[in-house]
Amino acid sequence: MFIERLKKLRGVKKYLLRGLCGKPQRNTWQINGLYLAIRGFSVTDHLNSDRRSLNMAAIHAEDTGPEMAVRKIVHSLGYRYRLHDPNLPGKPDLVFPSRQKALFVHGCFWHRHTGCKRATIPKTRTDFWQTKLLANATRDRHVRYQLRKMGWKVLTVWQCELKKPARLMERLNEFLAD
Ligand SMILES: [Zn+2]
Repeated sequence: MFIERLKKLRGVKKYLLRGLCGKPQRNTWQINGLYLAIRGFSVTDHLNSDRRSLNMAAIHAEDTGPEMAVRKIVHSLGYRYRLHDPNLPGKPDLVFPSRQKALFVHGCFWHRHTGCKRATIPKTRTDFWQTKLLANATRDRHVRYQLRKMGWKVLTVWQCELKKPARLMERLNEFLAD
């Protein structure tokens, strides 16, 4: 059963599963601190076909909790930024055009934070997830490479860094200061 499997995914909060009832066309809930929007699910669906799993893969994060938190810190440091610049490779989450600096806020699970305990692989459909998640990390690497080639400085902030906001603030300040 889809919901049973979902519950097994690390970090899925039970109470947020409420969101799955009543609005089959668009639901949001939280996995590992990310707010996710899923389209086309219904409560009775089973997560046992490739098609269904591909739906899962179409999940994307929109204005996630971690990103909002990083925006607040950067704002408090007094820096101005643009959001999700579509003209740059990978549409960086925060862009500082005059400084040619770009910042990504990445969820540890989806973007494979190396050595992080949140970067787990789900126990079901392991091969599928491994391929999918590896592709995410490969794409991220390529995007960083492209940006640097264009003369941009790039910083990746990981979701788990928000547990130590003072240290993160220092890191952000170091990156942004000239
Ligand atoms: Zn992490």
